[in-house]
Amino acid sequence: MLQSLEITATLTVPESPFHNLHWSGRLELSIDCFICERTGRTTLLEKGAERAVCSGSGRDGKHYAAARISAFDRGTAGGEIRLGTVVDFWWAPFHDAKRDAAATVLTRYPWVRHHLDYYCPESMESGTFSDQTNFVRPSPVSCQHCSVPIAESREAPRFRLLA
Ligand SMILES: [Zn+2]
Ligand SMILES: [Zn+2]
Repeated sequence: MLQSLEITATLTVPESPFHNLHWSGRLELSIDCFICERTGRTTLLEKGAERAVCSGSGRDGKHYAAARISAFDRGTAGGEIRLGTVVDFWWAPFHDAKRDAAATVLTRYPWVRHHLDYYCPESMESGTFSDQTNFVRPSPVSCQHCSVPIAESREAPRFRLLA
């Protein structure tokens, strides 16, 4: 059945110097994948793509997965940047033989990694970093060119299954 998962991420951003920080349209999300019948598979999603790529399990390799980003809402408020993403994916029950675990709609230990891009006004070069569920927080990020703080993650991304 078709499921929708909402993911909300927030980063605290210092006012200056302006690094034009923005969420890229790429993210990795753990999903219980009925195609390779493994729980907690890292699935690569790209905004605008009509399918995703499941990392599969070792020798079974990568494969296309029935998942896509259906909403991607960026917002800025009070020194924070936010991203609200909805991922639609097809879910069917199965039993993971290797882990001896039943699949769940929201995988048991949901995990996400968001990618971000920025532009350094000092060096006039672009840069990237990522924010993910299992970071130790607060997790500050500095510009890879001029070393000033450009963002800080204070809370892990949140997950909510939509009806
Ligand atoms: Zn898979
Ligand atoms: Zn910089």
